[in-house]
Amino acid sequence: MKIIMLGAPGAGKGTQAKKIAAKYDIPHISTGDIFRANIKNGTELGKKAKTYMDQGLLVPDELVVDLVVDRVNQEDCSNGYVLDGFPRTIPQAEALDKALADLGQKMDYAIDVDVPDENIVNRMGGRRACVGCGATYHLVFAPTKEEGICDTCGKELILRDDDKPETVQKRLNVYHEQTQPLIEYYSKAGILKTVDGTVDMNDVFQAIVDILGE
Ligand code: ADP
Ligand code: AMP
Repeated sequence: MKIIMLGAPGAGKGTQAKKIAAKYDIPHISTGDIFRANIKNGTELGKKAKTYMDQGLLVPDELVVDLVVDRVNQEDCSNGYVLDGFPRTIPQAEALDKALADLGQKMDYAIDVDVPDENIVNRMGGRRACVGCGATYHLVFAPTKEEGICDTCGKELILRDDDKPETVQKRLNVYHEQTQPLIEYYSKAGILKTVDGTVDMNDVFQAIVDILGE
């Protein structure tokens, strides 16, 4: 099962992608996580990506596409995968479709987690990320057992630089301009499914399971 998660930054794509990956036993591929790992490790890719990410801009397509195409060709993706944060532009979607077509494959579902902009600003302000393992929490909606400490690895939690309020509005504008057109793209392709992302995260997941099947 090959799945794309669509939705604004902070809509809950990562939260749901992790649950999908666990239930259906497929890899969760987050381009944002890949870039953050590269930044942490000081790689050339990380250095290039950081200049765009810190400004709330998209990393150029040419730095993203090959990375994802290589990743989905790996052995652990043979039964499918859930893509989180990719594609984010029409050229990325077209490049992915072409790469899959070359292998005689196609995407099965594009799930749009629908959340209005008003809710997004609160979501992002409360999101906290672990500096160690990258796990994501929320001060109100997904709190840790001990404040400021990751439940999984015990490291410190931070507010991502690009989740600061001044950058969030920029990211939302970028989303509407460059990523939202993908909703029509996948609707035309006949694989778009929309779920209400404003409800409790377990209810969002149930709506997704209703689409994907038990
Ligand atoms: P994305 O991957 O789309 O950027 P995340 O999955 O990181 O979004 O979610 C953004 C923030 O909102 C996180 O702090 C997460 O814990 C929280 N969150 C996710 N889904 C919900 C939900 N249904 N209700 C409330 N908060 C949520
Ligand atoms: P995310 O963790 O998905 O919110 O991504 C964080 C940031 O990484 C984005 O704001 C972009 O700067 C960059 N990024 C992640 N995925 C992509 C992509 N597919 N195309 C371009 N930039 C991306």
